[in-house]
Amino acid sequence: MAPTRPEPVLSVVVPMFNEEAVLPLFARRLRVVLDGLGEAYEVVAVDDGSTDGTPAGLAALRVGWPGLRVVRLRRNSGHQAALVAGVLRAHGRYVVSIDADLQDPPETIGEMLRRARADDLDIVYGVRDDRSTDSPFKRWTAGAYYRLMRRLVGKQVPAQAGDFRLLSRAAVEALRELPERSPVLRLVVPWLGFPSGAVTYRRQERPAGRTKYPLTRMVGLAAESVTSFSAAPLRFATWLGLAGVVVCGLLVVLAVAAWLAGATVTGWPSLYVAILFLGAVQLLCLGLLGEYVARIYTAVQGRPAYFVATDTADERHRPAEPA
Ligand code: UDP
Ligand code: MG
Repeated sequence: MAPTRPEPVLSVVVPMFNEEAVLPLFARRLRVVLDGLGEAYEVVAVDDGSTDGTPAGLAALRVGWPGLRVVRLRRNSGHQAALVAGVLRAHGRYVVSIDADLQDPPETIGEMLRRARADDLDIVYGVRDDRSTDSPFKRWTAGAYYRLMRRLVGKQVPAQAGDFRLLSRAAVEALRELPERSPVLRLVVPWLGFPSGAVTYRRQERPAGRTKYPLTRMVGLAAESVTSFSAAPLRFATWLGLAGVVVCGLLVVLAVAAWLAGATVTGWPSLYVAILFLGAVQLLCLGLLGEYVARIYTAVQGRPAYFVATDTADERHRPAEPA
């Protein structure tokens, strides 16, 4: 059945998890921007299993805003999974993803769209030129993350580009072809190799609510980013093992020398060191192996990264009267 409304030019994908505090503010600002563009658009709000007033807030917003579409995931699946869910379900010629917390200014969306059309780009990154509102710790960890990613994935990964970006329909379809269930978008997107550009924006402070990226989640994202793109840590484990062998060889020579000199008691500290060192190296290598085994395990399971419970867009495809 044909959709009753024309396909939108622009889809704006917004993952949100327990964002009731900032939702009204965000919706007001976003709507002003989008209505001002003069294009057919849809907002795909992905409710990532919120447990607060977010679903109710979205339902209320939908009453007076036909452009708002709500995709509800059955359970909290994480920022990346929610993003992928929204991007793959979006209908627009261009798909912009943006956080709900107003740290990415909605006003920049128009500029992204203009850039994409003017230069015929498939990807336009939002690049943060100023993170002075982030804590020094957040800035330092983010800097280290981007340096590492550029080394592992390649120079095409733009520094300081998060998940505020525009994708063309072609880029979205390329993403759909990937076998991965939950790709790390900010690495996979540059890897696709489409013509891309960037617009800079100033990272704003969160006006309400709090960050859902505590340290544990940041470490998780970093570990997944590395193991999804590089086997370098495995090679590192091999080198570490080799270095351990060399050091142990030296210790053996020392021990033999001490024995020849008749000072046998001196043997025990070196034994102690060798055991500690070997134990540490083995544990580290096991841990690294474990990271990849875990990745293979989840890949082999092939479980979807998210379940869509409801999508308000599906309602208009349903026939009004039973046939
Ligand atoms: N988010 C989500 N699911 C989660 C965690 C976060 O959809 O499990 C959303 C969140 O509502 C926000 C965006 O992802 O719109 C970015 O999260 P947050 O602002 O907490 O991260 P930060 O900006 O601090 O890195
Ligand atoms: Mg944020």
